[in-house]
Amino acid sequence: MTKIKTIGVLTSGGDSPGMNAAIRAVVRGAIYHGLEVYGIQRGYQGMVDNDMDKMESHSVSNIIQLGGTILKTARCGDFMTFEGRQKAYNNLKQRGIDALVVIGGDGSFAGAEEFGKEFDLPIVGIPGTIDNDICGTEYTIGYDTALNTVVEAVDKIRDTASAHNRLFFIEVMGRNAGFLTLHGGIATGAEAIMVPELTNDYDMLEVFLQNAHKKHKTSSIVLVAEGDEIGGALKLADKVKKEHSEYDVRVTILGHIQRGGSPTARDRINAGRMGVSAIEALLKGEHGVMIGLMKDQIVHHPFSRSKKQKRPLDEKLLELIGILSI
Ligand code: ADP
Repeated sequence: MTKIKTIGVLTSGGDSPGMNAAIRAVVRGAIYHGLEVYGIQRGYQGMVDNDMDKMESHSVSNIIQLGGTILKTARCGDFMTFEGRQKAYNNLKQRGIDALVVIGGDGSFAGAEEFGKEFDLPIVGIPGTIDNDICGTEYTIGYDTALNTVVEAVDKIRDTASAHNRLFFIEVMGRNAGFLTLHGGIATGAEAIMVPELTNDYDMLEVFLQNAHKKHKTSSIVLVAEGDEIGGALKLADKVKKEHSEYDVRVTILGHIQRGGSPTARDRINAGRMGVSAIEALLKGEHGVMIGLMKDQIVHHPFSRSKKQKRPLDEKLLELIGILSI
């Protein structure tokens, strides 16, 4: 095992609030342990283009509270090719970078796994995504902030829904996963949710709509994950309008507000824990692992675990939506 002296850190794929707090923790954790650090710009693209700069402790001053990522992020087509990865590796070697910390989602980890094996480079991943859908960790950086953004927005919509006796379909981010929709739905008292993980959710919505009308329920909120098989909130609203003329239907798509904003305390604290743990893992000679949190304890899993299977929604929480909306 060769001793690591210099690491690179990058943020890749979809951005999430708290990535800056994670960068800060990685940089300060590395410096604390006597390592040099390079910040790589725009994810893997910065490695391919040789766009990286040395970072000091002060490079990450005053960023813990900022959304986005000071290193920028990108999706990088070049890195999907061997030639691109070879170029990236040459650029790292030329700077003496002998290990990497990648902050991103499962796509970024797939790239990291491939790259690490091809060039025998130690790489540790930190899960950063608002979807919370990475296998092997119960928590991803940015999820808590995005969830609180959803709650704040839905509370505001409920005020107007109630004032006008309307049925609102609110679209929440999540192409393949319904965590934000499920937890957001419970936290805002949504009457129903539509998630990609369920195939019978339209039938449940139908039952709810019929009962609500009989009970003269005046306003309702339904959260719809963008990846629900019905095709999102607009398509769902069209269908319901045709079949239930008794309802005054409106749609809101929350969109990119869910990705931004100052990270919550929880996201900042966990970013700190995960960032320092990533450096400790590299120093111990671990590589090809993702840092995760299970039962609020730090765990390290091989990258392959992060994509092994889809993380399921909690059945009990799904039941809760129905129980609490009677
Ligand atoms: P996320 O990390 O948010 O899931 P993506 O799925 O877009 O985001 O992945 C981010 C980047 O990771 C891609 O643009 C690409 O550069 C790299 N990547 C993803 N999968 C692979 C792969 N199998 N081989 C090499 N690079 C990959």
